[in-house]
Amino acid sequence: MRMDVEITLEEAFSGVRKRITVPKFERCDACHGTGAKEGKVVTCPDCGGAGQMRRTQSRGFAQFVSVGPCTRCRGTGRAPGTSCPECDGRGVNQRTSQIDLEIPKGVDTGSRLRIAGAGEIGPPGTPPGDLYVVIDVRDHPLFRRDGADLLMEAEMSYPTAALGGEIEISSLDGTAKVKVPPATQPDAVFRLKGRGMPVRGDLRGDLYVRLKLKVPDKLSSEEKNLLKRLAELEGHQANGPFSKLKKKR
Ligand SMILES: [Zn+2]
Ligand SMILES: [Zn+2]
Repeated sequence: MRMDVEITLEEAFSGVRKRITVPKFERCDACHGTGAKEGKVVTCPDCGGAGQMRRTQSRGFAQFVSVGPCTRCRGTGRAPGTSCPECDGRGVNQRTSQIDLEIPKGVDTGSRLRIAGAGEIGPPGTPPGDLYVVIDVRDHPLFRRDGADLLMEAEMSYPTAALGGEIEISSLDGTAKVKVPPATQPDAVFRLKGRGMPVRGDLRGDLYVRLKLKVPDKLSSEEKNLLKRLAELEGHQANGPFSKLKKKR
């Protein structure tokens, strides 16, 4: 038997305990699992206790006889006299039970947890089956996951990109600093070793930070003046970004 459980990336990061409601199959007490009212099982009236049925088919002048298991008693030769009213003759009742599920840290979408003995009940005399819980980790608005590694985006200002500096980011386990070297281009990716998802024990994947260039949508007059001054300076340089535009004109 299988069941899906959805968790957040944060829960997958730290591990989580979840109370889940699972269907539980119990052998019917009223009929001791026989499916017969008051446990009274009689010889199957369809097959007379043989457990097999003969079927005869006529094709032209020929007769074909086939033998198969009796559908009423499923080959056992014994059938309930009257169906047990508690379980409708199935011999099994379905109830629900609650399980405190311990989800370990580091699980990913598709991870399976096995709970022994919590599955469906088999034929009399056999132990109940296992329940498989399949984990589904929800998508996160900030982090993309690739196995044990995480990828996120952060913004850097033009001065930081040009001059270098530090950018503080929020990881799943607090803040971290990205060292930005001078002349960093937009979309440059930096790796923070060991700041990704937990794997096993103390092992962890890496966190990759892609730096986007932040273009301010509001500028103070002082900032405007400084940027104009910068543009003028670059305009005088032979290899500045505006020099190519001027040559084309
Ligand atoms: Zn019953
Ligand atoms: Zn039968």
